[in-house]
Amino acid sequence: MTSAREAQVPEVLARALEHLFGRRVGGVRVIEYAWRTRLHGRAVATTRPGRIYLRGSAREFFANPWLVLHEYCHVLCQWQPGRLTVPRYLLECLRRGYWNNRFEVEAREFADLNVARLLALLAGAPETHAPEPPPPRPPPYNTRPARPAG
Ligand SMILES: [Zn+2]
Repeated sequence: MTSAREAQVPEVLARALEHLFGRRVGGVRVIEYAWRTRLHGRAVATTRPGRIYLRGSAREFFANPWLVLHEYCHVLCQWQPGRLTVPRYLLECLRRGYWNNRFEVEAREFADLNVARLLALLAGAPETHAPEPPPPRPPPYNTRPARPAG
């Protein structure tokens, strides 16, 4: 079993999220392979103030812009201003179930509304087009110093 650890948010993604949310996202820690998510049924992620806990790997999470927006919405728009608390969330779940609770509805709507924008921001960042450095090329022949043979 892989143990929980904090993941490094890719710089390009962090900058795109800061642009989109209009605030710093560096205070949000992403923890992969977190045991907490196993307490939440089949949830792939769960959030707390300043924290996103993932069931699986951060790599998979960062590759899913919709889910990234959804979870960051919980943290930045709900936990951070104090609207979302554990008792309120549980009460919403008791009243309306998981799918229809207002925190989930809002986070889903936020992700639906902004996923195209996030993708555009990521596409506009040149780094996302070049995840690996280009293969080294031999220098052109004319840059080699001409040396007499022998
Ligand atoms: Zn959610």
